[in-house]
Amino acid sequence: MRDFNVIDVTAYKGSDCFLILTEKSAVLVDSGQDYCAVQTSENISNILKGRQLDLILLTHSHYDHASGSACLKKAFPSAFVVASQTASEILAKEKVHSVMRELNKAVADEAGVGAYPDHLDSLAVDQTIEDGETITLDDLTITAIDASGHTKCSLCYYFEEEGLLAAAETLGIPVDFPAEISPCNIISHDQTIASIKRAASYKPQRILASHIGLLPDGSADEFFNKALEVENESNNLIIDSYKAGKPNDIILEEYKKRFYTQNVAKVQPENAFYINAETLIAKTIAKLYQDT
Ligand SMILES: [Zn+2]
Repeated sequence: MRDFNVIDVTAYKGSDCFLILTEKSAVLVDSGQDYCAVQTSENISNILKGRQLDLILLTHSHYDHASGSACLKKAFPSAFVVASQTASEILAKEKVHSVMRELNKAVADEAGVGAYPDHLDSLAVDQTIEDGETITLDDLTITAIDASGHTKCSLCYYFEEEGLLAAAETLGIPVDFPAEISPCNIISHDQTIASIKRAASYKPQRILASHIGLLPDGSADEFFNKALEVENESNNLIIDSYKAGKPNDIILEEYKKRFYTQNVAKVQPENAFYINAETLIAKTIAKLYQDT
């Protein structure tokens, strides 16, 4: 295993991104949000001290992970923005830019941030990568791993020599590891379970968790086991409540009571939780009909 450093360069909580440094390479995992991306780029510059940024790896197209990349690309022109083909198509849409603009504004208002420059018109992916494909830098080999489940555009990135997995949100957010992992399935329980197992099959030594950072050494198996457990609990809660005859709004409130914990609230606004949970509940119930 080769040495590496992970540095949290997050400007505001919820807009989390992490710089991975090796002797010769500098790679950013996710880009945070646009409203605070100037601050993020300053945080990165302070660490790099003139070194170049090589890659910005996007785990998926959601605004809190991808919208900062347009500003960061301007600040670090040498950096290639990398994502899945699906994420690339989503991020090219003007309609997506305007939704991201509104979401950024709402979060900035809540954080008490005043005027900020908007870079969303230039949001773009430079290089797409799919499951099993590899990017090679001077001293890094990075493999993309499909992580559909949270979204259909999600990817994990595995740093081979470092034994490091940069995990997509699909695997869950370990908001208080090992006590609490927040399940992040939105579109498919089956895909989420398959994605957790696919990532685990690479047998990473270290996990860089979405929104959280590097988990303790030797805890990867515990992370994957708990991620599977909590995803199954989330799915069962919805199915059991539905089979007990409860309407969707009651299931939503029960789901929120169980899974929108104080730790989750630190990384996810309440309205974002509601939007995701409503979609998840609708999709989970629709799947029950498909299966019968
Ligand atoms: Zn997301």
